[in-house]
Amino acid sequence: MLQIYNSLTQRKEAFKPIEPGKVNIYVCGVTVYDYCHLGHARTYTAFDVIIRYLRWQGFDVTYVRNITDIDDKIIKRANEIHDDFYVIVDKFTKAMHEDFGAIGLLLPNHEPRATEFMQPMIAMIEKLIANNHAYVAENGDVYYAVRAFKNYGCLAHRDIEKLESGARVEINDVKKDPLDFVLWKLAKPDEPKWPSPWGDGRPGWHIECSAMSTSMFGDTFDIHGGGKDLIFPHHENELAQAETATGATFVNLWMHAGFLQIDKEKMSKSLGNFFTIRDLLKEHAPEVLRYFLITSHYRSPLHYSTDMIQQARNALERFYTSLRDLPDAEPIANTLFLEKFTNAMDDDFNTPVALSVLFELSHEIQRLRDKDMTAAAAHGALLKQLGGVLGILQDNPVAFFQSGTKSIDVTKIEALIAARNKARTDKNWAEADRARDELAAMSIILEDGPSGTIWKAK
Ligand code: AMP
Ligand code: ZN
Repeated sequence: MLQIYNSLTQRKEAFKPIEPGKVNIYVCGVTVYDYCHLGHARTYTAFDVIIRYLRWQGFDVTYVRNITDIDDKIIKRANEIHDDFYVIVDKFTKAMHEDFGAIGLLLPNHEPRATEFMQPMIAMIEKLIANNHAYVAENGDVYYAVRAFKNYGCLAHRDIEKLESGARVEINDVKKDPLDFVLWKLAKPDEPKWPSPWGDGRPGWHIECSAMSTSMFGDTFDIHGGGKDLIFPHHENELAQAETATGATFVNLWMHAGFLQIDKEKMSKSLGNFFTIRDLLKEHAPEVLRYFLITSHYRSPLHYSTDMIQQARNALERFYTSLRDLPDAEPIANTLFLEKFTNAMDDDFNTPVALSVLFELSHEIQRLRDKDMTAAAAHGALLKQLGGVLGILQDNPVAFFQSGTKSIDVTKIEALIAARNKARTDKNWAEADRARDELAAMSIILEDGPSGTIWKAK
């Protein structure tokens, strides 16, 4: 029975979708004003694995991941580089798709953009004003009145009085309460703007997700996700807006991914301690990054280091070594491996335990290989199938061994291998050794196997 941790109740719960067999999941997407870094990849890979697993278990999953294409950060960026707002949005949306595709993230079923949902946002704000949960401030901006919602703080598990005392009171603040947050902001000259009953302007960040998710899924849906930093204030505010606008429970299950950290700090744009996905892909095979990202449980922090990335590569090499040269076969059925893998994933998507089961399977393939190739192949097919549920191990083993070598001259490597093979045929051992040494100096190692010599990048 699948158990999932719910941030709202702070415990694992048996998963029960609203409609049996169907799952509606909304994950907050990227604000497209720069290239995505590995921290983004951490959260979206976590949800990618969750969605793959749910589908593998037979659920009909509708995955919605929005694009925040209107935001102060985008406007600031456009002003900084003197480019048009839309040019920035297009450029970084395209880059996000390329980078996410490279690390094997499934496309969401829908990718709504905030700017396409102005009407539902305006309608929700109008409802909130009518219900006395929002007001137009002196400066014309519209604010959500936090105090009018008695459950405010329920998701973040924070007491409203404590939040209040910590809130920053700004000079000339037009809010009635320091915790109130903006729903509609009037445009300053030269800012992008949309018409509304309160004047031309743009929505606040939080309202977009409440309006888009309920427009697509209805008032209540199964799962809402994002990184842990979104619990407060973004998701708390989304919940407040949606529940006071519709009167219904907004979301049944809230899921949050832990941070990718570097030197014990969250990898983030603002701290400047980030590596973009595209820069990392110049050095590492995409699958290595993906493997690294699932080595810790999705709710736990994950620590980035070059050593951890190397360990991910080594682990994948071991898996691909066990898959190499196996004949095609159907996955072995009814084995303990399958049961253990499913138990691990049913326990709140425990990928580290699931990977340890795949390791046991990989050892079993190596053990069987010498005495029963048919059984080895059937276990290999299962390893590949279960790897696919995590979005790994779908490559050709030799292609993987040679991956992550974009900066290496493959023609030169192949010429050196040919020279070495010829020298060996000629029994010119000195020349054969010289070619091997030259390859070693390029961090290329050779392996002579049953299907000939292959090279690996180290
Ligand atoms: P943003 O575009 O900054 O709103 O971030 C998009 C998503 O990436 C959010 O769900 C964030 O929580 C997530 N995210 C950003 N940085 C990290 C990080 N270092 N570790 C995990 N998730 C992150
Ligand atoms: Zn959101």
